[in-house]
Amino acid sequence: MIFVPLSTRVSTISRVCFAAAVICLGFSGCATRTGKIEKRTGDEIVVAGNFVHTGTRVVTWMEPGGYDAYRVERRFAPFKESDWDTSHEKVKDLRSPSRYSLRKSGLTDEQIEKVRGGGWDLPMLQSVVDQFVLHFDVAGISKTCFKVLHDSRDLSVHFMLDVDGTIYQTLDLKERAWHATSSNNRSIGIEIANMGGYSKEEKSPLHDWYKSDGGKTILTIPARYGTNVLYTKNFVGQPARPEPVRGEVQGHMLSQYDYTPEQYEALAKLTATLCSVFPKIKCDYPRDASGKLITRKLSDDDLGKYQGVLGHYHIQTNKTDPGPALQWDYIIGKAQRLLRQPTEHGATAQLKTRSIELDRSSESK
Ligand SMILES: [Zn+2]
Repeated sequence: MIFVPLSTRVSTISRVCFAAAVICLGFSGCATRTGKIEKRTGDEIVVAGNFVHTGTRVVTWMEPGGYDAYRVERRFAPFKESDWDTSHEKVKDLRSPSRYSLRKSGLTDEQIEKVRGGGWDLPMLQSVVDQFVLHFDVAGISKTCFKVLHDSRDLSVHFMLDVDGTIYQTLDLKERAWHATSSNNRSIGIEIANMGGYSKEEKSPLHDWYKSDGGKTILTIPARYGTNVLYTKNFVGQPARPEPVRGEVQGHMLSQYDYTPEQYEALAKLTATLCSVFPKIKCDYPRDASGKLITRKLSDDDLGKYQGVLGHYHIQTNKTDPGPALQWDYIIGKAQRLLRQPTEHGATAQLKTRSIELDRSSESK
């Protein structure tokens, strides 16, 4: 027997093992191959670094065509003027390079140290988030919405829901987006593309955005917004109800065109997903003693205790979004049904669910 020093034997064994591992990785399916590219299926949102299926199309900030609220530059300014120093100088309302911050209220110093560099884990995020706030964007389309929030207003929101039903995610849900003042720390926000609600006395832009066509009402994005501004090429949208919807918000009678059926479907699936991932978000809206939707700001005490889905107008007296047209019963009813049947309908009940094959026939890019 030839004597082999121990260190040489160990290194020989290591090399043999490494070679075996390489063979294993290279020629069989026994482990994930180094360098293998894993693609999104296209319906995932990002929650503290986890990909969570929703069953509806989502474009994240990391993809072409997405909107990235992490960037400090203005997204739509001429490139040479888009850097932060120039933007700060030119736009008086832009005060902070980052238009988002840390969800630090209620955390201990130790927890803040853990998350300040982005180190959220899901259980800690689940303990902080208990509201899902719905807005209308009064921008009409998500592209303009992002331009207003990010390039002009020093604001941000996690999701934008465009008229064709595409959801854009602009930040991981671990971030504190700036969309709903006192509820920013505890909430997730969505800006739904819609031109908003107006009283009789107010100047309304709705005639520019909706045209009658043989008994139908068609959503007509004004030409000045450009062409191909939506994810779905040649999308022709219609409000879910053809006539403007009238109703009271904050005690004022407002008129608003309804959201599109594509927006309702996507919003119901996203709502189900969020209520599933965040157990503190109750899948319901603010109700009075008789069970009817409350259409004004909640008292500070009630808002403090409220955990669930709500509108911006439930948080601030100077807000009327998402307006009188939003069909709360449809969204919450459908979301609740999805939660009861998670595997059949694609709304996720756990982080690990089967991937959803999206119908891509109508997609253009
Ligand atoms: Zn709002």
